[in-house]
Amino acid sequence: MAKPDVAMSMTAEKTPRHAPTRAGKRRPWHNLEAEQVLAQLRVSMENGLSSAEVAQRRAEHGLNTMTVSKQQSALLRFLLQFHQPLIYILLAATVVTLFLREFTDAVVIFAVVFVNAVIGYVQESKALEAIDALARSMTAKALVIRDGRRQNIHAQELVPGDIVLVQSGDKFPADVRLVQERDLKADESALTGESVAVEKSLAPVAPDSMLGDRLCMGFASTVVTYGQAKGVVVATGDHTEVGQIQQSIAGAQSLETPLTRKIREFSHLLLWVILALSAAVFGVGLLRGEDAGETFMVAVALAVGAIPEGLPVAVTIMLALGVSKMAARQAIIRRLVAVETLGSTNVICSDKTGTLTENQMTVQRLVTGNQLYQVTGLGYRPEGEIQAGNQPVALASNQALKLCLQAGLLCNDSALVEKEGKWTIEGDPTEGALEVVAQKVGFQRTQLEQEQPRLDAIPFESEYQYMATLHGGSRRVMYLKGSVEAVLERCTGAMLADGSAGELNREAINEHVARMAGDGLRVLAFATAPAAEHQTHIDHSHTATNFVFLGLQGMIDPPRREAVEAVKLCQQAGIEVKMITGDHAITAAAIATQIGLKGRHQHGKLVAVTGKQLQQMPEPELQDVAERVSVFARVSPEQKLRLVKALQARGKVVAMTGDGVNDGPALKQANIGIAMGITGTDVAKDAADMILTDDNFSSIEGAVEEGRGVFDNLTKFIVWTLPTNLGEGLTILAAIVFGSQLPVQPVQILWINMTTAVLLGLTLAFEPKEPNIMERPPRPASEPILNRELIMRTLLVGALMLLAAFGLYLYEMQHGATTAQAQTVAATALVVLEAGYLLNCRSLVRPMRDIGFFTNPWVFYGIGAMFLCQAAFIYTPLLNRLFGTSPLDGGQLLRIFGAAVVLVLIITVEKHLRMRNPQNAQPA
Ligand code: ADP
Ligand code: MG
Repeated sequence: MAKPDVAMSMTAEKTPRHAPTRAGKRRPWHNLEAEQVLAQLRVSMENGLSSAEVAQRRAEHGLNTMTVSKQQSALLRFLLQFHQPLIYILLAATVVTLFLREFTDAVVIFAVVFVNAVIGYVQESKALEAIDALARSMTAKALVIRDGRRQNIHAQELVPGDIVLVQSGDKFPADVRLVQERDLKADESALTGESVAVEKSLAPVAPDSMLGDRLCMGFASTVVTYGQAKGVVVATGDHTEVGQIQQSIAGAQSLETPLTRKIREFSHLLLWVILALSAAVFGVGLLRGEDAGETFMVAVALAVGAIPEGLPVAVTIMLALGVSKMAARQAIIRRLVAVETLGSTNVICSDKTGTLTENQMTVQRLVTGNQLYQVTGLGYRPEGEIQAGNQPVALASNQALKLCLQAGLLCNDSALVEKEGKWTIEGDPTEGALEVVAQKVGFQRTQLEQEQPRLDAIPFESEYQYMATLHGGSRRVMYLKGSVEAVLERCTGAMLADGSAGELNREAINEHVARMAGDGLRVLAFATAPAAEHQTHIDHSHTATNFVFLGLQGMIDPPRREAVEAVKLCQQAGIEVKMITGDHAITAAAIATQIGLKGRHQHGKLVAVTGKQLQQMPEPELQDVAERVSVFARVSPEQKLRLVKALQARGKVVAMTGDGVNDGPALKQANIGIAMGITGTDVAKDAADMILTDDNFSSIEGAVEEGRGVFDNLTKFIVWTLPTNLGEGLTILAAIVFGSQLPVQPVQILWINMTTAVLLGLTLAFEPKEPNIMERPPRPASEPILNRELIMRTLLVGALMLLAAFGLYLYEMQHGATTAQAQTVAATALVVLEAGYLLNCRSLVRPMRDIGFFTNPWVFYGIGAMFLCQAAFIYTPLLNRLFGTSPLDGGQLLRIFGAAVVLVLIITVEKHLRMRNPQNAQPA
C-alpha cells in the first residue's frame, strides 16, 4: 500500500476513515465540503493564491503537464524500419551471399540496409517532432483568480490551490473540486467513456464513488458543455485522474493519410509483381543450368532496382514539411491528412465575426423611444458623443436612451481597459462596444455596479441568442440583451422617451433593424423587467415574457482587408467561399457583399438563407441551396452540420470554421475542420484538423496555397522517382533477355537508389510554389496522382534510361573496357541521368528556363553532393573494392554527360509540345 503523505496524516482526523480510493495516496477531495477543501489547500475563494504561494507550490509540484507516454519506443521505431518486404529480401540476400562466401557483397548489402534504416528513422523522427512541437505550441489557457485578480494564464502554470473559472466550451485544465457552479454540465467521455454529459453539483459524495459519480469534481481533459463554474485545483499534471491512467488525450499522431496509404498499396502491388518476376528469373536461370548463387543475385538486383521502396517515406516527409510551411502562415495542422486535403478543397465555409471581419465593434446608431441617434468616434477609445441630427443629445431628454445604455453596461461581461494609451477589450468585443458608447456619454461602470450590484446572470450562448442579468439595489430588476428576435419575443411593451410605458411596435422596430442591418451593422436589442423582491437567481424561465423594450444599438464591424483579398484569390482558384453566421440575415448579406462573396443574387443583392428556412427544407432542396447560396444567417451548430453534409453529398470537399462548444460535430464532419486559435473553445480546437492562430480568413487561403504546393512537389517527386525504378528494372530485364552479363550489379543498384533518393529526390520538397497555383481549379480528390501525360512521361524516361545505361554498357564492352569499367559507366549514367531529369522535374509543366535557376538552391546543393559521392564511388579504392567499380577516363565521362544532356533536351521538347495544347497546361 502506498504510504500516506505528511499532509494527509496531519489532517487525518478530518479525512474519513475509509481507505483512500483506487489511486492510493490521493485524497478523496470529493468527500469533503468545498470549504474544507479550500481550508486544506490554504486558499481563499475570492482572492486565490498569492504570487509567492504560487511560486512555492510550483517548486513543489512542478508544471501542470502530463508525461506523454511515447506511443512507440525509439528502439521499436528503429526496428520497424526493417519491417519492409524489400528489406527482408535484402537481409535474405545478405545471408545467401554469406553462404556463397562473397563477404564484401554481404557487408555492403547489410551496410546499405542499416544505413537505410538509420536515415528512415531520423527522417521519421523529424517529421513526428515537427508535428508534436506544433501540437504543443497551442498550449491551453486557464482563467484563474490570483492575488485577488482574474488572470489568463497558461494551463501548465496551474498549481494545487489555484482557483479556476470555467465555462461552456472549456476543458478543465486540472482536477478541481467545484466551489461554485451554475447549470454545469461536463462531457467526461474522455475519462469515463460515458458519452452523456454529467450534471454537476457541489455536495460531497461517498469516498469510494466511481469517477463518473463524483459530481462535485471537474476532471482534467473533460469538457464543460454547459454552464459555468469556479473550482479549486486539487491535482495537476500526472497526479490528475487522467494522468494516472496514462491516457494521452491528444492521441497518437498518425502519419498515415489516404495518399500514403494509396501509395503503400501501390508499392505492395508492384512488389508482388516484381517478386513474381524475380522468382521467374531465378527459376528460368536454374532450369538453364546457370549458377544458383549468381541467378539469385540477378533476381535480387531486379527486385531492388524496380521497387520504389523510398516512396511512402518520402511522401510522409514531404507532407510533414508542409506542416511547418503552413505553421509559418498561421495555420497549425493537427492531423497530417489535412495537408493533403487542403490541396483539393473546393468550398470554404467561414464564420463572419472575427474571421471575415475585424471583430472591432463600434456602436454607431441607437434607436430608443422612437428616436434615431448617431454616435461619433471610432474604435474602443471612449471619446465621442451621441447625436440627434448632428446635435449632441442630453441624456435627460430620453429616459429610454439612458436605460438602454445602462442595460448595455450592466448586462455585460467584458472589460474596457486602457494600457499605455491604448484602449482594448478583455472579453467579447460586442459587449466591449456597449461599454464604450456608455462611457462616451459619461456613465461610470463601477458606480453603476455599486448602485445595482449583479446578483445572477444567464451568460450569452449562441443557441439562445441573448444574455440576461439580475440586479439588486433599491429594487430588483433584470436586464436583457440579445438578437432582435430573441428580445422582441420576450417583450410585451416598450419604454417611451419620457420613461412611460407604451405599446410595442414590432413593425417599426423591424424596419429600423432592416435599415441598420442593410448597412452591415450588427444589431442588438435591449429590454428590462422588474424582478421579484427576494429573487437571487435567474434562469430561462424568468426571462420568458413581460419585458419592456428599451431600444436597439447597431455596431459596425468592418471587413478585414486581407480577407477581401483572400476571398478573391480563393475565387480565382475555383474555391467557393460561403459565410455561415449567427448574425442577422440582412447584416450577413451586407457584409458578404462588401467582402465580395459570390452566390445566388436577388434584386442585385446576395441572398441570405436563415437557419429557420434551412430547418424546413427537404433534403434535395437543402443540397441545392447549400450549393448555390453563399450566405447563411442565424445558423445553429446543428444546421452547420447539415450544411456540411449537404455540400459533401454534392461532391464538395469542405473546409469549415467553427469556434463554439457545439461546433464539434460539424468540424469533425467537414473534410477540414478549422478552429479559431484566439476565440475558439477547447472543444472546437479538439475537433479540428487545423487551428488558425490569428483567427483570420486569409490564413485559410494561405494554407490552401501551401497545400497545393505540397501536393505539386509530391507529384514531382513521384514523377522523378518512378522512371528511375522503371529504367533500372528494365536494364536488368534486358540483360536477362539478351543473355548478357548484368550491366549494373545489385550492390551498385543499391548504391544508386540509396544516394539519389535522399540527395536528389527530396530536394524537390523545397521547390517554391508554381506561380499560377491559385489560378487553377482544385484538384478533384478522386483524380489519380499521375494523369495520362505523366504516365507517358514516366514510360518515356524509363525507356531512355534503359537505352542510355544498356547502350553505354554495350559500347564500352565492345571498345575494350573491362566489365568493372563498363558497369561503372552504366551505374554512373543512371545517376547522372537522374540528376539531369531532376532539373526537368522541378516543374511539371513549365520549361526549365522559366523556373528560374536558383529559386531552389537545394537542388543544386543536392546535385553537387551527389556528384561528390559518385566521384568517390568511381575513384576511391575503398568504394571500388566494395562496389566492384573502377576509375573512368574522360571520354567515358563525356559520353555519360552527353547522354544526360540528350535526355534533358528530349523531355524539354516533350513538355513544350504538351504546353502548346492548353488543356494540358496544368500540373497533375
Ligand atoms: P456570429 O459570431 O456568427 O456573429 P453570434 O452567435 O455570436 O454570431 O451572435 C448571434 C446574435 O446574437 C448577434 O447577432 C447578436 O444579436 C447576438 N449577440 C451576440 N453576442 C452577444 C452577447 N454577448 N450578448 C447578447 N447578445 C449577443
Ligand atoms: Mg460570436
